Amino acid sequence: MNILVINCGSSSLKFQLIDAETEKLIAKGLCERIGIEGSQLVYQPTGKDKITTVTPMEDHTTAVKLVLNSLTDKDNGVVNDLSEIAAVGHRIVHGGEKFAKSTLITDEVVQAITDCNELAPLHNPANLIGIAACKELMPNTPMAAVFDTAFHQTMPQEAYLYGLPYEYYEKYKVRRYGFHGTSHSYVSNKAAEVLGKKYEDLKIIVCHLGNGASVSAVKNGKCIDTSMGLTPLEGLIMGTRSGDIDPAIIEFIAHKENKSIDEIMSILNKKSGVLGLSSNLSSDFRDLQEAYESGKEEGIRTIETFAYRVTKYIGAYTAAMNGVDAICFTAGLGENSPFVREMICSRLGYLGITLDKEQNAKRGEDLIITTSDSTTKVLVIPTNEELAIARETKALI
Ligand code: AMP
Repeated sequence: MNILVINCGSSSLKFQLIDAETEKLIAKGLCERIGIEGSQLVYQPTGKDKITTVTPMEDHTTAVKLVLNSLTDKDNGVVNDLSEIAAVGHRIVHGGEKFAKSTLITDEVVQAITDCNELAPLHNPANLIGIAACKELMPNTPMAAVFDTAFHQTMPQEAYLYGLPYEYYEKYKVRRYGFHGTSHSYVSNKAAEVLGKKYEDLKIIVCHLGNGASVSAVKNGKCIDTSMGLTPLEGLIMGTRSGDIDPAIIEFIAHKENKSIDEIMSILNKKSGVLGLSSNLSSDFRDLQEAYESGKEEGIRTIETFAYRVTKYIGAYTAAMNGVDAICFTAGLGENSPFVREMICSRLGYLGITLDKEQNAKRGEDLIITTSDSTTKVLVIPTNEELAIARETKALI
């Protein structure tokens, strides 16, 4: 059963075709600069070279059409025709309080996702365009919506409420939602499997450290807290997002720099994080690590501040769960940087953590990176959000 997984952004569309029985990747690719000059499709059937086609893509429907043409192409295609695609799974960023799990897409579901647009104005409209494009081109193929927020809907009220007038929650649903849920769910489940323990018996902290970054506390198989909030701006210091700040800074900087709220929000989202903290050196940890190692102040302060914030969240979530059995690292940085993992773990001796340096140096597989006598285990689990979306879609159809 082949499932097409679509992750649609405002000007991009990532896709993977996955055999949901064997869980093997059949082909993957990316459409970039949709609706902008210079758009291109990168398509890669598993085991073959990437094929890059520079071609105009006026909208997402054109992009989906090109993707489907590639998948069925007589030379480089991987299926004979579209009937070999059993279903499409869409990544949807915000499901608000309406969606605590994945769902098959109907007209009502499309409306309910549209109702959440206000909560994720950059993401949900793009996700909906992807749904509409697939519906137009594959009207009889079932589609599923898999939400970034759904896994976190088990958070208790004490974790999701802000210290704001309660009427804002009642009127506008202003509360903490959390994101990267598909990744936190996949990684925490996988950690239980790797440890040979029952998911429901464990207290797990997942650190999803990529360009966007979040931490979650998963107690007995349920998420009880996560670091992102109403939007993905809250929590850890990220590539370009500030993470937690004193909200009074917004007014302070607005006055000092004569900027509007919109301008400040753009700075908090696009010019802050490790990029801003490093005086625009880079948002990429590879560059920052290089700067750190060559003794550059920008690299040192940025990585130390980032790591300190992760350590604080781990401490907070250990307290929230009254203990922790396993801490998992995942996503671009979490999976690929032994250096940052070591810096974080070196501050966690109080949890009985001793890093196994040889294990920590490995890459690309599920790993336990603590010594056998460590009372809390630390794992590296490569995330696979597309596979998780394919699994959910398969289960729904
Ligand atoms: P993601 O958003 O999960 O794709 O993660 C992207 C980020 O991971 C990049 O911006 C880098 O900061 C980080 N990253 C990827 N590979 C490495 C690596 N080998 N060493 C350190 N950081 C890495």
